[in-house]
Amino acid sequence: MQIKVSVNMQDKETQIQLCQGCELAVYRVAIQPKQSAYCPRCGSLLYQGTHPSLSGNLALAITCLLLLILAHWFNFLTIRLFGIMISASLPAGIWAIASEGYPALALLVFFCSSLAPLLILMTIMLAHFALHYRWFNIFRYSLLAMQKLKPWSMIDVFLVSVAVTCFKLIDYADIFIGPALYSLLLLQILTILLISRISIQRYWEAWQPESHYPKLSQKRMHCHYCHLSQDVNEYCIRCNQKLHYRKPLSIQRTWAYTCLAAIAIIPANVIPISIFISHGQRLEDTIFSGVVTLINNGMYAIAAIIFIASIVVPVVKILALIYLLLTIQYHCTRYHRQRMTIYYIIKWIGKWSVMDLFVISIMLSLIDHGQLLNFTPGYGAVAFGCVVILTMLATESLDSRLIWDSIAVNTNHSESSDE
Ligand SMILES: [Zn+2]
Ligand SMILES: [Zn+2]
Repeated sequence: MQIKVSVNMQDKETQIQLCQGCELAVYRVAIQPKQSAYCPRCGSLLYQGTHPSLSGNLALAITCLLLLILAHWFNFLTIRLFGIMISASLPAGIWAIASEGYPALALLVFFCSSLAPLLILMTIMLAHFALHYRWFNIFRYSLLAMQKLKPWSMIDVFLVSVAVTCFKLIDYADIFIGPALYSLLLLQILTILLISRISIQRYWEAWQPESHYPKLSQKRMHCHYCHLSQDVNEYCIRCNQKLHYRKPLSIQRTWAYTCLAAIAIIPANVIPISIFISHGQRLEDTIFSGVVTLINNGMYAIAAIIFIASIVVPVVKILALIYLLLTIQYHCTRYHRQRMTIYYIIKWIGKWSVMDLFVISIMLSLIDHGQLLNFTPGYGAVAFGCVVILTMLATESLDSRLIWDSIAVNTNHSESSDE
């Protein structure tokens, strides 16, 4: 059940909190377990009524870590191609890209499919021990790392990529599912559960609750890291990070990343992304011609998935970023809520573009064996990797509160409603 926070000026006993999405000052009200409090203006989550136990998170993280090791140890797919059994494992795919002469691409696949999920699980465990033994710096840095790494963990994208590869190869080979795929599936389910339970704010509340800090009639700053609302300070009084009214150089950095992505998207779509050699015939595919080939082979669903993830998502993301930046710079006074929704959507969809690179890595580990069939990535894949990284950095550097700056802050205390 959802509840919007009612802003009650008479309720002096409760605490004021600034919304992390738009910086509206709201009064904390008591809510029931299973309820969540959302900002009445921008719809961002403020706080939750239920507090999942932190030790439950630790148990989940340890289980996920074991599953992650299993997923790397075993094969996730085996195919029978011309009577020969070939297996694919996660490390083999990454190694295959690196040995084809694309170390940067291999690094990107390695980071998104293995390193980021591993580091997130490690930081959760570290944060636990640091909280228990009150090690301030370890606690602070592990939560900081967790926050930065969260968007880069892409097990879900990898699973869809495995399915796409299977459909692409189904005409050439018999496909058998390996044990690692089951661990990856289970890992993904538990990761969703874990991510939904973990909030950086909750960990900081466990370290030192907001109610322990002086009650102020007006709070002017919101810490980006621990989400403590406070008076104007140079450093956060709870997590000791430097406080900024808005993320420094947010607009300039977002413009820079967006423009670079808009440039890189041209070679990514013009230069072949994959080269397929079948019975002595060399087939060079750009992203778009790959989609056309899939349509010609009658694989409409896979064609649609690749088309949306590799062509529509990056283009829409760049256009949406340009739209948000322009409306912020021209102090647009309308459609704040809609623009906030766009901001949240592009934050979520960005990672799905990595799918094509995952598919290439899986294909490489399965069919680059110098036989009748051969497969190698093209330079278009490198440009495409750049587009993915740049658009993700662009959304991370955009401060959503800038969208709301054209509304006078803190003037509309009474606009909210109960549900
Ligand atoms: Zn808000
Ligand atoms: Zn802080």
